[in-house]
Amino acid sequence: MHFFDTHIHLTDFKNISTSDLIKKLQSSGIQKCICVSAKSDEWKKISEFAHDYPFEVIPCFGIHPWYVEQEDEQAIKLLEDYIKHFPNALIGECGFDAIKNQNFDRQEQFFNFQIDLAHSYHRPLVLHMVKAQKYIEKYLALLPQKSVFHSYSGSKDLLNKIFKYQFYISVNKRFFLKKESFSILESTPLNHLLIETDAPFQSNISDLFEVVQKIAEIKHKNIEEVSEILYLNAMEFALDE
Ligand SMILES: [Zn+2]
Repeated sequence: MHFFDTHIHLTDFKNISTSDLIKKLQSSGIQKCICVSAKSDEWKKISEFAHDYPFEVIPCFGIHPWYVEQEDEQAIKLLEDYIKHFPNALIGECGFDAIKNQNFDRQEQFFNFQIDLAHSYHRPLVLHMVKAQKYIEKYLALLPQKSVFHSYSGSKDLLNKIFKYQFYISVNKRFFLKKESFSILESTPLNHLLIETDAPFQSNISDLFEVVQKIAEIKHKNIEEVSEILYLNAMEFALDE
């Protein structure tokens, strides 16, 4: 079985060489991953990962709502340069976080810029949305169709709107601790579902098997079939293949 981890922070693993990290991914069945970023000082390292491991690592450059205060106009210009330089790069993670940051004007400013960039360069968008439902709703009509709500934590009501626009959601091992996880996945079309580790934060590199197993149970399908569908979803989402 092989997996496509659609949300991992490779730059946040400490005390491990790049080649050992890639080996670790492979030994857990992760063939490909989207390496997301949160702030501009990670982009150079991500571009090196993507350059050295073009099959395994799809770069994703962006500015996370937690870090909008420390970024400026120059970071915005630099972001565009990275997007131009990597035709397969995605944009993110970006969005709103109502718990960690109360400065919504600045969050909006950076989010708007990244949405524009996604449209201008036809790139998928990786969204971080925490307790920000009222802000997201006014944005739904503005997002590119290839947008993923990473580590989905919204309501079922929002979920229905998300699928009306044919967006994607992604889930990691932690998602299954929530009691609504079952009903959320029951209402999620399998072809708009992605899986992630968010390692080294929300779960571990070795957790994807368990995630696929849980999805297979809820969807009443066998695990091999589900793992193949999820892999192809990620290919379609990230690489248009
Ligand atoms: Zn993340």
